[in-house]
Amino acid sequence: MSSKYKILIIEDEIKTVNFISMALRAKDYKVSSAQTGRSGILSFCTSNPDIILLDLGLPDVDGMKVIEEIRKVSDVPILVVSGRKFEQDIIDALDAGANDYVTKPFGMGELLARVRVMERYITKETITKPNQILQ
Ligand code: CA
Repeated sequence: MSSKYKILIIEDEIKTVNFISMALRAKDYKVSSAQTGRSGILSFCTSNPDIILLDLGLPDVDGMKVIEEIRKVSDVPILVVSGRKFEQDIIDALDAGANDYVTKPFGMGELLARVRVMERYITKETITKPNQILQ
């Protein structure tokens, strides 16, 4: 069964982006990526992805801020993919609105399974107030 879900990867490490993208495309997902938090938020607003994979350690704004900004306007499923392994980081991200959290390094089988979990959260809600986060 082919899925046509659009996935936006917000991640500054190109190797990780390429690694994840290749695996997702092999499963028929449509993949786009952004290397900074701000460009990720912009891509979210313009490309309306079904699922977001989000790194927390980004070069401009912290991924936590990205979660907060996106949650002001959308319930899009967000899967955090981060090297931060402290329980408190995971709790903070989930409390801020992330749907799930995977720590690096991860196995691709597990990541794909967690992406499938994200599919269960997909609702086709439109962005109603994009201006709030584009400022
Ligand atoms: Ca990073």
